[in-house]
Amino acid sequence: MTTIYSARWIVPVSAAPIENGAVAVEGQRIARVGAYAEIVETFPEFKVESLGEAIIIPGLVNTHTHLELTAMRGYLEETDFFAWLRKLTVARLELMTPDDIRVSATWGACEAVRAGITCVADASDSAMMSMLALRDVGLRGVVYQESFGPDARFAEENFEKLKTKVEALRALESDLVRAGVSPHAPYTVCGPQLELIAEFARAERLPLMMHAAESAAEELFVREGCGSFAERLARRAIEWKAPGVSTIQYLKQVGVLDVRPLLAHCIRVDDRDIEILRDTGANVAHCPKSNAKLGHGRAPFEKFIEAGVVVGLGSDSVASNNTCDILEEARFATLLARAGGARVSAEEALRVATFGGELSEGAQADLAVVALDGVHQLPSYDPIATLIFASSGRDVILTVVAGREVYRNGRVSNVDEDRLRAHMLEISHKLNG
Ligand SMILES: [Zn+2]
Repeated sequence: MTTIYSARWIVPVSAAPIENGAVAVEGQRIARVGAYAEIVETFPEFKVESLGEAIIIPGLVNTHTHLELTAMRGYLEETDFFAWLRKLTVARLELMTPDDIRVSATWGACEAVRAGITCVADASDSAMMSMLALRDVGLRGVVYQESFGPDARFAEENFEKLKTKVEALRALESDLVRAGVSPHAPYTVCGPQLELIAEFARAERLPLMMHAAESAAEELFVREGCGSFAERLARRAIEWKAPGVSTIQYLKQVGVLDVRPLLAHCIRVDDRDIEILRDTGANVAHCPKSNAKLGHGRAPFEKFIEAGVVVGLGSDSVASNNTCDILEEARFATLLARAGGARVSAEEALRVATFGGELSEGAQADLAVVALDGVHQLPSYDPIATLIFASSGRDVILTVVAGREVYRNGRVSNVDEDRLRAHMLEISHKLNG
């Protein structure tokens, strides 16, 4: 398919905004970005789609999701973290069928493309279901198979289980969707299991994602071997010898940082940790709304940017957020940083929200079109300021992944949302008991 998308504003991110511009898309790739008249003259045979008072940006990237948990939006409003985790685990393992989990993940994927998200980093216990969901909706992404196991006596056994699951997951890989591994967190996966998984990821060239430095409880657990996580292990007669360093230094010791992992949260980090993150090329998924809602604090977003740490934005699961909306995260991240006295510009926020994506010749044609004519947006003197400070995912009118339209004007292209909605209602009745 060959199409020219034109709009009042094109923001390539890697270059200056173009007023009255256009993006020519040929197959999966961008053929040219420039002024409307020039593009139409260069490609006279292309179909022209005029999107009017709107802004075209590179697709938004959600660097931390758990799409399988979408059915639990608003279900886990407990403020105690352990009660939260327990209710989630019972719902996922005892109440929901594999088909329910697939529908839940697909509903989450629909929400993502409706919000202009073209790529997700999704960690999932039922990774196969999440991968099918991405494929059905047409999203790009990495689906990380989660692994748990705080008890070193079962590290080998748990690792073998992970390998079997990853093998099955890899059979579903496509041009757009890749498999990865996710040892859940330092307090749910023991050191020997982390070492095995890191080595496996290195040998098999698998992307690795994990939760890191998320809470005060985790810091106490890793630095001093006490607090609520340590007490829970002690009650289950599981041995834990705290390494006595920060989470980031611990992950370096066990080899996780050797594979340039994607680390979600990174709230409890000091300047030395930030240097380690930069020097090892680790990527950070900053999830400001989830962190705030769960009361975990705020990651030093502006310090990551200043230090040159690769940072993206994540919604986390909608069970803790409660929406999958990267424009919202970008606004929230910027406002929080500024509330703390840091200067983060709207341009910087957009760069982080698109995670290195750009509109340029030869790039994958992943793009989002955001309407700029809402009452809540007008007047607009600066398109990027309007985008970051006055817009949300609900203003998106078109989402394109690898040249294919996956969402347009209220309709997700590749799945039957009415059928999914009915099934989601059934799941919610079941979870409500
Ligand atoms: Zn998470």
